[in-house]
Amino acid sequence: MISPLLSNYAPADLSFDKGEGAYLFGNDGRRYLDFFAGIAVTSLGHAHPKITEALSKQASNLMHISNLFRIPGQEELAKKLVDNTFADAAYFCNSGAEANECGLKMIRKYFSTNGQPERYRVIAFENSFHGRTLATIAAAGQDKLLEGFGPPMDGFDHVPVGDIEAVKQAITPETAGVLIEPILGEGGIQVVEPEFLRQLRKLCDEEGLLLMFDEIQTGMGRTGKLFAYEHLGIAPDIMSSAKALGNGFPVGACLAVEKVAVCMTVGSHGSTYGGNPLAMAVAGAVVDIMTEDGFMERVQQTGNHLRQALHGVVDRYPSVIEELRGVGLHLGLKCKVENGALIQTLIKHGVLTAKGGDNVVRLLPPLIIDEAQINEFITALEQACEELSS
Ligand SMILES: *Cc1c(COP(=O)(O)O)cnc(C)c1O
Repeated sequence: MISPLLSNYAPADLSFDKGEGAYLFGNDGRRYLDFFAGIAVTSLGHAHPKITEALSKQASNLMHISNLFRIPGQEELAKKLVDNTFADAAYFCNSGAEANECGLKMIRKYFSTNGQPERYRVIAFENSFHGRTLATIAAAGQDKLLEGFGPPMDGFDHVPVGDIEAVKQAITPETAGVLIEPILGEGGIQVVEPEFLRQLRKLCDEEGLLLMFDEIQTGMGRTGKLFAYEHLGIAPDIMSSAKALGNGFPVGACLAVEKVAVCMTVGSHGSTYGGNPLAMAVAGAVVDIMTEDGFMERVQQTGNHLRQALHGVVDRYPSVIEELRGVGLHLGLKCKVENGALIQTLIKHGVLTAKGGDNVVRLLPPLIIDEAQINEFITALEQACEELSS
């Protein structure tokens, strides 16, 4: 049996024995160009030697100890993240949804600690995606995520992205914060206007609200900066990270400014695995590689090159692709044909991409792709468009 979602995404009988850089080797004996990176996760490519080394070295020493003892790797990774972001402190967990849960708890705890426990509500945006836990599906503002799971968790008010007046009107004496993805990833690579994000920052400052960015998909180099907020000239108070942070090893982080972080006192939150030595070794290696001189410049150049080539294809096949969206290597093709059809045709031509909302095909290649791989992708895309337009 093929599940409906999987059949839209890739044939369920396709699996992979091995990955190497931007390629995956299928059990059908074929080599595939990986343009979805496990949903923006394996951003340094498969089997990156430095990641494999960090993982195997740590695994041969100590994998897990729990947070009952100090974990030096946590202190090191927290310092690296703090040094490279707006944040003053980091908390570690195992997934994106957990990182968002931590951020949402931080928003509530901040006001509770500061004598305003009645302020607990968060303004979030329609058509967002924040994970699959009960709090994060309630935060997302999509009925399809809530369907079948009883009354949604209380504490979220939804408004349309880009409508600053609607945000203002949604603020009540119970409002504590605003949560937004700088680019709605699952929603179909919907780039939020930078000006809207700056207006949110200003509004939060005026109203004394906390601003939280979900950078689980946009972060860790995807847009050509370590985090997408760096493009904006403003910063959030709280930010979640996961996906590419571990390049495939499950790890998440919630970062915060000091005034918020200090409210999370001993015992207020926790996780058995969160920040274990293995996760810290791998994520530490990822951050080291991504903060090397020239790494982000190269991602930006690669993104420019790919987007330029894609514009050409969009222009030539308007009956297949309506629009190119995105920033850096966080890209989407809004389709005229059914997005699943383009994905399936691309698979035939040896390229793997991912489905997104709003009939979008998401292009999330590893950040390390080279010119030859971009050309290989463009050739496959042209062939697929040729087939679908005839
Ligand atoms: C993937 C994603 C999540 C959820 O992360 P999980 O690791 O699947 O829990 C949350 N928010 C955004 C923006 C994401 O892209």
